[in-house]
Amino acid sequence: MDLAIRGTRMVTFRDGRPSVVQGGTVGVRDGRITYVGPDDGFEGRAEREIDGAGHVTMPGLVDAHVHTGPTLLRGAAQDVPEIEWMNRALGPLADHLTDDDRVVGAKLGVLEGIRSGVTTFGEYASDVGRLVEEVYEPWGVRVAATETINAVADDADLDPDVPYPFDERTGRTALDRADALSDDYADSDLVIPTYGPQALDMVPLELLEETFAHAAERDCRVHVHVAQGRRERRQIEARYGDDASTVGVLEDNGLLDERLIAVHCHDATPEERERLAESGAAYVGCPSSIAAIDGVTPPVEWFRRRDAPVGLGTDQAPGPGGHDMLREVRTAALLSKTVHADPTALPAWEALRLATLGGATALGLDDRIGSLEVGKRADLVVIDAADPSVAPVVDEPFSTAVPNLAHSASRAAVDTVVVDGDVVLRDGEFVDVDERDVIDEAQERAERVFEEGAADWRAAGSALVDRADEGWL
Ligand SMILES: [Zn+2]
Repeated sequence: MDLAIRGTRMVTFRDGRPSVVQGGTVGVRDGRITYVGPDDGFEGRAEREIDGAGHVTMPGLVDAHVHTGPTLLRGAAQDVPEIEWMNRALGPLADHLTDDDRVVGAKLGVLEGIRSGVTTFGEYASDVGRLVEEVYEPWGVRVAATETINAVADDADLDPDVPYPFDERTGRTALDRADALSDDYADSDLVIPTYGPQALDMVPLELLEETFAHAAERDCRVHVHVAQGRRERRQIEARYGDDASTVGVLEDNGLLDERLIAVHCHDATPEERERLAESGAAYVGCPSSIAAIDGVTPPVEWFRRRDAPVGLGTDQAPGPGGHDMLREVRTAALLSKTVHADPTALPAWEALRLATLGGATALGLDDRIGSLEVGKRADLVVIDAADPSVAPVVDEPFSTAVPNLAHSASRAAVDTVVVDGDVVLRDGEFVDVDERDVIDEAQERAERVFEEGAADWRAAGSALVDRADEGWL
């Protein structure tokens, strides 16, 4: 045995339920969970033993939809109308991010995620292979690496009522990169290649069909932003005719099935959602992001009630703020309760399940991660039950561990993070990564990006320019 966490309170999510057990042991060999059960049934010794007393051990969290690249732009765009967010507030600054800035942004975003207990990231980026090589692989973090495929020729100030001009070559180059990634990592446990046609309004139908075909040949998932808002709907109508919708076009072309990971969907009608749920497609909701950018609660609880595979994601730092998945669990639960005007909506155990087993299922990884079960890869989080944001935890007449984790735990309570059997964070400190270095470099680069983008940002004239001039920012 390589590693054992002894005497711990376990939240397993075996069979989809938290099933809290006191006085348990999780044993790990060759990156795989080989024992989950009572302490006294554990035989032998492990090379490395972690005392889990006073701690809760649970499956690693899955951030099922995330763009860590723009993390240097945290705080750059929020509190503006949705129509201004990208083109006038974030875009003028984002144009000044170099590829190297995006790598450093990714490092910062991944650090933040790990600190909140994330062990798998559904990373979505153009040239995602570079983030795999420079961040995920060297740090030993699991990633569903999604290559963005976008063929829009020029995304500046396009008229939503005229079909966007497509540049076939840009789209095809991205598809080639996605193919190469899936060939390179076909046998990897830690890197799961995924195809990312950005959205139906940004990719020609033929290229989308080809992307699904390539993904099917390689048994990969296809991760798509679906029904993101009125602008997308207008664009789909302009291209495919009145009353056309993203869900309708996908369905008519045989692309609505288990391979699809549909993100957002807040602009899908209840009837369209019904067809999505029936198709077996997975759904990922990003409650903080969609609340911050659109002022809307995404239909997380809606899909959950229909037993669709549902995961949660943090999307990007600018707008919602960051990649803290514990905070996302709480946000998902509370927003679901308010939007349904129902305190029974998205209960604590379900919110926590979506952030673990749910996300794993949505990404097609539930056979290897998402619960504490013998045979699964060892992705674990150990949380300090004595942290002021978690304590007290009692076990009789019922356990308060799950509500305390889902509604209250701050990431400061995350003590140890294990990915594929390797300890990444121990006693709240990174084992192999110099966190200070990453933060210092991110700070330096962010100052440069904001300085270089200042004139463009001002000229774009978002509402934030006036707010800054008035002294609110
Ligand atoms: Zn996204």
